[in-house]
Parts: sequence; C-alpha cells; structure tokens
Amino acid sequence: MSIENENGNFAKPMLAEVPKVVGSINISHHVDCPHCDETMYDDLDREWWNSNITDQLPNEEEYNSQFEINCKECGKPFIIDGFVY
Ligand SMILES: [Zn+2]
Repeated sequence: MSIENENGNFAKPMLAEVPKVVGSINISHHVDCPHCDETMYDDLDREWWNSNITDQLPNEEEYNSQFEINCKECGKPFIIDGFVY
C-alpha cells in the first residue's frame, strides 16, 4: 500500500461531520500604577475592580471617563484618564 493511500485518513471529512463552535471575545482591561508600577487587571480581580474603578466596562462612555482610585498594591492615589484600545 502506498503512502498516498494511507493519507486517505486525512481527507477532508463531509461537512456534516465537522463540529461547529462559536468563538469567544475576551475583553480585559488593565491599568498600571504610576507610583509602584503594579498592574491591576479587571479579569484577575473582578471584585476589586468593580468596587474601586467601575463595573460598567466595556462601555464607550466609561472609556472616556476619569476614575480617581487608590492603587490596590501601594494604596497611593492616582487618576485613570480614560481607557484606550
Ligand atoms: Zn501602586
């Protein structure tokens, strides 16, 4: 039997046999502290982020807002002047 014949296993299956999935969009936000360089992520610490910054993301209006917060790590205050993509 030739190699070409064995490759029949890799032939494109009928469309009906191909499983179908839906892809996901994973949006995450983060900000760096200007004092200690700590990076805070919304998806890693959702609870902290929601109560200290905003629970309204993603949202175009919130992306253009300012948020005055205290760093999660060093506690010093700073202002998030909006979010950019
Ligand atoms: Zn800090």
